Amino acid sequence: MAIPYRSTRSTPDTGSISFAEALLRGLAPDGGLYVPENPPRTSFVHISRGDTLPDMACSVFAAWIGDEISASDQERIVRDALDFPVPLVPLASKGGGPWSNTFVLELFHGPTLSFKDFGARTMARWMGYFLERRSERATILVATSGDTGSAVADGFAGQDRIRVVLLYPKDKVSRVQEQQLIAERPGVQALCVAGDFDDCQRMAKEAFVHPAFAGAGLSSANSINIGRLLPQMMYYVLAASRLPAENPWFCVPSGNLGNLTGGVLAHLSGLPVAGFLAAHNANDFFPRFLSGEDAGFAPTIRTLSNAMDVGAPSNFERLQALLDRPTMQRLIRAERVLDEDTVASMRRVYEATGYVADPHTAVGLEAVRRQRALGALQGPVVVLATAHPAKFPETVHAALGFEPDAPDRLAAIGAQGTAVEEVIPSVEALRPYLVG
Ligand SMILES: *Cc1c(COP(=O)(O)O)cnc(C)c1O
Repeated sequence: MAIPYRSTRSTPDTGSISFAEALLRGLAPDGGLYVPENPPRTSFVHISRGDTLPDMACSVFAAWIGDEISASDQERIVRDALDFPVPLVPLASKGGGPWSNTFVLELFHGPTLSFKDFGARTMARWMGYFLERRSERATILVATSGDTGSAVADGFAGQDRIRVVLLYPKDKVSRVQEQQLIAERPGVQALCVAGDFDDCQRMAKEAFVHPAFAGAGLSSANSINIGRLLPQMMYYVLAASRLPAENPWFCVPSGNLGNLTGGVLAHLSGLPVAGFLAAHNANDFFPRFLSGEDAGFAPTIRTLSNAMDVGAPSNFERLQALLDRPTMQRLIRAERVLDEDTVASMRRVYEATGYVADPHTAVGLEAVRRQRALGALQGPVVVLATAHPAKFPETVHAALGFEPDAPDRLAAIGAQGTAVEEVIPSVEALRPYLVG
């Protein structure tokens, strides 16, 4: 049985579509984002402490994707995609203190050191599976300013029917980020655009509607795609199964609100939670919205937690389609943490517990500290650690006075061959890479 999906902008008489169709289209033709017609109930009671992440993923995806992927193929896909550890680290300061009953869920042990590996790796294999059955090919075109690009390049590399073209702005990404983007990978071409991130995004948008590229099978892989979000439900389920008490709070360092939407989907599917805390940087549209201010989207502001620099979060439209406003305000709290407090948070947590947080995770930890101080968060709190501190050596050094240890897989990327070409900021420059 196929599970029906619909656009956030559909009307009662718009038909529904299959998961495969939603995955391959990405954005709906009416400009909306795909959501399940009714979030399927998952029986989480069958999930036990000893289960691995792939075990859990098989039973949850059976409810969300139905028989569009056979059980044995699904098992092969998730074992291959989700093959890295997900430690849940208790942040106990000696003698209790403000961090007792607070856990950090480290989502950065995948190949590119951010939580985006969960979505990108799984989605790549799902796409490869459906393209194979349809005898079709696709080219994934991504404009990136950081983490998305490397997770997508790595996740999709080597998929037979898919090639990837990455656009990133010259001199505008960090040293570590650039190394990860330009590493030589099968089927992946990185293009360094002599312009800024807005040029990259404009080129990608123009390419999607350009007549010369109509036959190129262009597709996108950012978090507007439902295929990125379903895998992100899984670590909420995993963390809840490993905690000593039920109904945890989840604190989610947020930008485009895709990660938070993954948690909300898991909850709508039956996962018991106390609530969610969305931790934002200076790009504070969502905290303003929840506090009841007449909030509008705002231009993007650059911060130290740059993967969360999103002025107009696209998954907000999904959250609105899934939750009415009173439910959203009951279920989700939000905080805004500026750069100064992000650095102070890295220091404070390190001094109290010895834990080295990256700037994105530090925004989450500061949001938790504030809400705990107000007495607003009771019981266990899980903070999602979205990136490895070694991705941000300059910021960690400025805050703590030393550079974090780089894991072997990061050092290996530095030693690998590179494949990058520079192009001018015009859609025409993409022709050799998209046609032929
Ligand atoms: C992408 C990213 C985020 C923000 O996630 P959203 O799904 O866009 O809200 C947070 N931290 C890191 C390290 C990221 O790469």
